[in-house]
Amino acid sequence: MIVDREPGHDALARAAELLRRAVRRRQPVAALTGAGISAESGVPTFRGSGGLWHGFRPEELATPAAFARDPQRVWEWYHWRRGLVLAAEPNPGHRALAVLEERLQDAFTLITQNVDGLHQRAGSRRVVELHGNLLEARCTRCGRVEPLAPEASGIPNCPACGAMQRPNVVWFGEPLPGAAWARARQAAATASVFLVIGTSAVVYPAAGLVEVAAAAGAGVIEINPEETPVSDLADSVLRQPAGEALPALLREAGIVPG
Ligand code: NAD
Ligand code: ZN
Repeated sequence: MIVDREPGHDALARAAELLRRAVRRRQPVAALTGAGISAESGVPTFRGSGGLWHGFRPEELATPAAFARDPQRVWEWYHWRRGLVLAAEPNPGHRALAVLEERLQDAFTLITQNVDGLHQRAGSRRVVELHGNLLEARCTRCGRVEPLAPEASGIPNCPACGAMQRPNVVWFGEPLPGAAWARARQAAATASVFLVIGTSAVVYPAAGLVEVAAAAGAGVIEINPEETPVSDLADSVLRQPAGEALPALLREAGIVPG
């Protein structure tokens, strides 16, 4: 592992070389993003400061048991988070990944644990959402998924059957959506370069994708200001905010003009 704490050093050169080679050969590239990529847009991560809401930890709210006990409170938390997301804008990290997709087309897969829709707003088209999307609600009876109106409040009801809706996200203890997980695994297993960006890599099974990619021989590039459990798997580590490291990586790899 080569670690860069400042732009312009060995790890950036190594990461750029891995990416440049993959782009030249049109080999598959995949990226896994977590809450850290949206931190510079002002959306709080769970584990950083700002993760608390009215003194509650996310683990106390983002569970089926919490929703069964007090759906009103859980919805209030999601309405608050949705407000933050709607007021936020994609940052240069999100935009760099949209540029990479434009360049690689279907040789690029963006896998996200985020539920904020900021990748799509930055222009990414083929986003694999492992944890759903908090801009949507899902019926607890018939399963129908609906976009939430920006002004939605309280406990919303299904327009089809009238039952209570829940946020269309994956909670702690729930399985990942099968189709998204299958696409993510396939992308990780076949990637020649795997970028892991802004995730604490402690939430399984998503974090296991890095192990799948590394075991299959991908060059792994980590972008995260902090060390994580998958840092040791990385060939190159950029210890910088994603909004700085990703544009620098694309410039260094010659994907955007320097
Ligand atoms: P996390 O909160 O566990 O970890 C965030 C990681 O981002 C940390 O390792 C931190 O060092 C890193 N980070 C902070 N600022 C960064 C920056 N500017 N650039 C790059 N990295 C930065 O987040 P997680 O690993 O995604 O797991 C938490 C779960 O919470 C996810 O499953 C996700 O669904 C959910 N979540 C989503 C959002 C969102 O959609 N924006 C926000 C909070 C939590
Ligand atoms: Zn319904």
